[in-house]
Parts: sequence; structure tokens; C-alpha cells
Amino acid sequence: MDRDSLRKDYIELVASVREYMEEQLQFGFIEAASQESAESSPYSDFDLPTLATDAASCTKCPLHETRNSVVFGVGDTSADLMFIGEAPGADEDRQGEPFVGRAGQLLTQIIEAGMKLKRGDVYIANVLKCRPPGNRNPAPDEVETCSPYLVRQIELIQPKVIVALGSFAAQMMLGTKIGITKLRGEFHPCNVAGLRVPSHKQPPVVMPTYHPAYLLRNPGAKREVWEDVKKVLARLSEA
Ligand code: SF4
Repeated sequence: MDRDSLRKDYIELVASVREYMEEQLQFGFIEAASQESAESSPYSDFDLPTLATDAASCTKCPLHETRNSVVFGVGDTSADLMFIGEAPGADEDRQGEPFVGRAGQLLTQIIEAGMKLKRGDVYIANVLKCRPPGNRNPAPDEVETCSPYLVRQIELIQPKVIVALGSFAAQMMLGTKIGITKLRGEFHPCNVAGLRVPSHKQPPVVMPTYHPAYLLRNPGAKREVWEDVKKVLARLSEA
């Protein structure tokens, strides 16, 4: 057999293996190699109530020493739309619910007056479940320790669209260091580390936009958030 015939056979073999693998993925017989194994998350077998109970007594990072509440998440646990912020603030820490302070009221206004949805129709959570003292930025080791809770929440809720509020949440969801000003306004594939998506499902898309706390300081940016929100509504209506 000459070199050209060998090369042709090799190309045909690669094509048929690829076709076979794509069929297997499509029908859910195997999962994509990029998806992490079930053993990679300590919570991979947890349902949402079990996960919430585990988080409620979590002492895995130093933030447990200063918190009043673990702020797990709230809303429709089968929502198509999920909002993800950075971490609880003082009001959230007191009440045990995300986005209930002034910034939270603005988020509720965006959801209810802007999107014509009910706050209870969506799911709202943060990257960190406990408040960093003085509302300082989350430390990298805190994020690493806490983020498996959020990843499992996303796996269980299976939203179609995630709105990442602010740089911090957007960068975590997209696995990037690019700032929110450049990221916002476009959908991006969710690229959060450790997320497993069933082979018959599409991974969620992420719309980064400004955090409501930023809007309180910069009301002029509300127009851009509204543009982002309109794209989210359009995307949800396609599904
Ligand atoms: S921030 Fe997360 S990891 Fe840290 S104590 Fe709270 S729930 Fe546990």
C-alpha cells in the first residue's frame, strides 16, 4: 500500500470515529470529555435541599466566623433565568436572602417593572454564600472553596440564561479576566469550572451586565442594562 492510500484510509478512519462519537454524544450514551467527572465535585449527588442544608452549616472558609446568615439562593428552582451576583451585603446577611438591600430592590424593579416577570419566577444567587466583612472583594481562596455550591445550583436548576451581575460574577462564569464593560451586551457560553451539563442539554449562555449597586452610583448606565435585559428576554422567548 502506498503513502497516499494509507493517508486516505487514515482520514476515513478518523472521520468515522468522529461520526460515531458525535452520535454517542447526541443520544446521551457518553458525556463530552470536557465535562468533569462526577467525582470532581463533593456535591455531585446532592439535590437542592441537601445542598442548602450543607451550606447552612458550612465552615469551610473563614467567612463563617463573621456571617449572620448563609445566603444560599431564592426563587424558582426550575427557572429558565438565573441572576448571579458576587456576595451577600449587610442586608442580605441579616435577612438570609440575596439582593434584598437597595441594590436588590433595583434588581427586583428590573425583573418586575422591566422584564414583566415576578421575582419568584427567576432564581437569584451569589458566588459566595457568606458576606465578606465590610463588603470587601471576595478572596480567591474563598471563591475556590465556595463556588462548588453555585456550580451545583446551576447543574440542578439548569437555566437557559444566566445574567451575571458585575465583573466578579461575569469573570467567574466565563473563566476570564476581561472587565464587565467589554463583556456586557453579548451572550457568552458558560465556562464556569467544574460545571457538568447532561449530554442532551445545551449549557446555559451568560449575559454579563452591570451590577445593580453600580447602577445606584451610575444611573446613566441603566440604559445599557436595559439593552442587555431586552436581549435576554428575546433569547428566552426563542426557547
Ligand atoms: S462562604 Fe461558602 S465556603 Fe465559606 S463558609 Fe460560607 S458557605 Fe462555606
